[in-house]
Amino acid sequence: MVIQMKWTRIDVKTSSRTQLIEITDRISEEVKKSGIQDGVCHVYVQHTTAGLTINENADPDVVRDILTGLTRLVPATGDYRHAEGNSDAHIKASLMGFSLNVPLIDGRLALGTWQGIYFCEFDGSRIRHVLVGITGE
Ligand code: ZN
Repeated sequence: MVIQMKWTRIDVKTSSRTQLIEITDRISEEVKKSGIQDGVCHVYVQHTTAGLTINENADPDVVRDILTGLTRLVPATGDYRHAEGNSDAHIKASLMGFSLNVPLIDGRLALGTWQGIYFCEFDGSRIRHVLVGITGE
């Protein structure tokens, strides 16, 4: 048994300030390229105003409602001191988190039927980077 670890980077182009972009297919592509069958897929963003989450990819209203709910929780303006003026984006990114771990079973991401992996942009539009690490055998 030889445990392998492979990291690759994918670029995600966002097109608005706040946006959830499904990246499941792109992560699956990296899993396929790695040749690793059983292990864990790590996904990580090196940003402070973007994050990652897993949620429903069947009804697009779920994504819309997540973004609307986050904006209700964290308004764009308020009692913020950060001079860059994007404190809402920093807070939303921390709420979502910066890394995910997905089981890799029989060469496939073991996601639930309705689950998709989302890149969460909160201060776009930009080109963002996502690290994908696949470890296993
Ligand atoms: Zn900032």
